Amino acid sequence: MRADKLLASTGFGTRKDVKKLLKQGAVTADGEKVKSGAVHLDPDTQDIEVKGEPLHYREYIYLLMHKPAGVICATEDELHETVLDILEWEDVVRHPFPVGRLDKDTEGMLLLTNDGKFSHALTSPKKGVPKTYEALLDEKAVQEDVEAFERGVTLVDDGYQTKPAELELLPEEPERVRITIREGKYHQVKRMFEAVGKEVRYLKRIQIGSLPLDESLGAGEYRDMEEEEVQLLL
Ligand code: URA
Repeated sequence: MRADKLLASTGFGTRKDVKKLLKQGAVTADGEKVKSGAVHLDPDTQDIEVKGEPLHYREYIYLLMHKPAGVICATEDELHETVLDILEWEDVVRHPFPVGRLDKDTEGMLLLTNDGKFSHALTSPKKGVPKTYEALLDEKAVQEDVEAFERGVTLVDDGYQTKPAELELLPEEPERVRITIREGKYHQVKRMFEAVGKEVRYLKRIQIGSLPLDESLGAGEYRDMEEEEVQLLL
């Protein structure tokens, strides 16, 4: 990996900070000063030090984002802003990708990682990891909807029979509900409500497995996940 990318991805700051460190001669590989960001370094086979301290290279990155509405869950797109466009350069260099997808107009909890196993553990239909959403509907949800979702509903365009899902009614605001599903078909929540004659006007994912969205993150903000949070989802 290029020296500048390696340093940025191990927490030595922005592209500018990294350039400065290299210029200062603060970075060595097997005892030799590395002066250019373009030099290729291998943290597995070389002893890399920054200011005399060994570099700790973490292969994987785990990010928790509050995805804003209006951006798409893709790694690149010619027309639309993607969730990767939100990330700082020092995170993008580790090539994270979104774990599963939220629609462009859906906001809320999105994880990004470069760890394929972690992503698979959360998205594989076999694992059935619960995902909870808050939805605002065009009309009141009722007890029959709760029972229909518990039994499973038939989606309109492809006849798919959904697995049992929990619908929680919020009596103080009957158009607003919480729904937990254990699968991730295309537009699933919107299509489940369509199956019971209702339209989703607003959708926000608020929890994945037992990890809730960090409400201190505003829409468009993200942070590294804590080690315990990663373990909680595995
Ligand atoms: N279900 C939907 O309909 N949209 C999402 O973004 C996520 C789940």
